[in-house]
Amino acid sequence: MKALQVAIDGPASAGKSTVAKRVAKRFGYVYCDTGAMYRAVTWAALDRGVAIDDTQAVADLAHQIEIDFKPGDPEQRVFVDGTEVTTAIRQNEINANVSAVAAIPAVREEMTAQQRQIAARGGIVMDGRDIGTTVLPTAQVKVFLVASAAERARRRFEENKRKGIATTTLEELQAAIERRDKLDSEREVSPLTQAPDATRLDSTHLTIDQVVDEISGLIKKSASN
Ligand code: C5P
Repeated sequence: MKALQVAIDGPASAGKSTVAKRVAKRFGYVYCDTGAMYRAVTWAALDRGVAIDDTQAVADLAHQIEIDFKPGDPEQRVFVDGTEVTTAIRQNEINANVSAVAAIPAVREEMTAQQRQIAARGGIVMDGRDIGTTVLPTAQVKVFLVASAAERARRRFEENKRKGIATTTLEELQAAIERRDKLDSEREVSPLTQAPDATRLDSTHLTIDQVVDEISGLIKKSASN
């Protein structure tokens, strides 16, 4: 079977990474969580006392740091210059600042270049906000995964509890998710938007397995063409 590029985009907490990881495993593809890369830059800026609104300094940092992924169970592990940040990049302080970092054009340029390098290795499932539109515009399979904001907040709330990540109330969590979606959708460069040739999947009433099966079907169909 041909090794394809699979782009999975969508708003915050729509289940992209869970689904992308399983699809990659099923087909023996590499999985790349691009959100983790923007989170890693944000972590590095906060850790080193770089002001988020100093766009030049944040862009320089994005250029300097080395972001690495290592396989891990249940979660892929993330490193910045050798320091593990897997849990640190999921904290509320990162959620609150990552959209501002991701809106800096020079940061996006650097991350996009790194993501294209990772994808060049062959069969890949990449999840994010601009994969189908900007990073891999010629990806053979493009999915735009959505779910209602209430359902996304509920899922994230349960996930935070499970992972021991400090969480706010469900209402506050939903408001934070909606705020991030708005910032991501309204930024100038590569905003969150559905590629014209992407398949829209609403997972509000679907199980993870159902979404994985849907996407697997799209991959098989595309690979046999
Ligand atoms: O997917 P995740 O929620 O971890 O992404 C964190 C943030 O990174 C998003 O809210 C967005 O600001 C940014 N992002 C992006 N482009 C991507 C992936 C993530 O701008 N391809």
